[in-house]
Amino acid sequence: MSKMRAVQVPRAGGPLEVVDREIPEPGPGQVRIRVEAAGICHSDVLTVQGGYLPVAYPRVPGHEIAGVVDAIGDSVPAWKPGDRAGVGWHGGHCGYCDPCRRGDFLSCKNGPIIPGITYDGGYEEYVVAPWGALARIPDGISSADAAPLMDAGVTTFNPLRHSGARPGDLVAILGIGGLGHLGVQWASKMGFHTVAIARGSDKEPLAKQLGASVYIDSQSQDPAAELSKMGGARVILATVTSGAAMTQVLGGLGIDGELIVVGAPQDPLQVPAGALIFGRRAISGWPSGTSIQSEDTLKFAVQTGVRPMIERLPLGHAADGYARMMSGKARFRVVLTAGS
Ligand SMILES: [Zn+2]
Ligand SMILES: [Zn+2]
Repeated sequence: MSKMRAVQVPRAGGPLEVVDREIPEPGPGQVRIRVEAAGICHSDVLTVQGGYLPVAYPRVPGHEIAGVVDAIGDSVPAWKPGDRAGVGWHGGHCGYCDPCRRGDFLSCKNGPIIPGITYDGGYEEYVVAPWGALARIPDGISSADAAPLMDAGVTTFNPLRHSGARPGDLVAILGIGGLGHLGVQWASKMGFHTVAIARGSDKEPLAKQLGASVYIDSQSQDPAAELSKMGGARVILATVTSGAAMTQVLGGLGIDGELIVVGAPQDPLQVPAGALIFGRRAISGWPSGTSIQSEDTLKFAVQTGVRPMIERLPLGHAADGYARMMSGKARFRVVLTAGS
């Protein structure tokens, strides 16, 4: 069998190294995808640094995969070579544990099963994944744009559409970064009165361009007070990685308002209990989405024109791309593309 290029992490904390590998063969129930684009996500630290989830090294990171089905194993229904397919955080599920039997695949007791962590992910030319993890990529969106939507996209789209907020409701997106720049677009296209909150005034033009009607600079303004003046938010989607920043906006929730956490801070949120009791406010979290929910995300993007802002790099430059993502300077998602 011929070889392919892959970018692997040889050991926890190790470098991202370009290697030649055998092109993998799909086994029963598996599909091989020729990868056209792979997003670099902050969660790739789980593989590069290790120590959070079980990882068998060497491991190829990447859970934002977009490409074309290239070969199928035995017992694979509904997919054929030539189909466009993506794989995200939901990299498979057992199908027989209690949560799976309830259709809650992301809570699989035999998981989480995540490409780039549990098995080799998108930083390579060919990926093998279970068919249940595949999302169809519709016409009208490139693989480079589809890849980040497989995780960053569904992670922000899913909680907003399941939040109970209705068109016209005040919805605030906390943070304009890899997640937040998508959150603002979804919220606007879903018909919410969309408020963007970020540090400094420099992101205001971009936030408005992405669809925010109001911009709050959390350095010069008190976001909780500003939201309260507008009647309080029905939903605040917290995409930042600062518990202190999340704490700062809690007072901006309206009656029945909900803070939905999708960013993962190291520092804790400080929650005054009274703020939850009076006004029935809530704090919740949301973990990405399943393959069909990623597919819904892609369809909605095609329907409404939502796209990630990306920086493209060839696969061989994965280490540079990862460093760029970690620096926080990427605008806003780094995507590795096939070819040199
Ligand atoms: Zn991710
Ligand atoms: Zn299961």
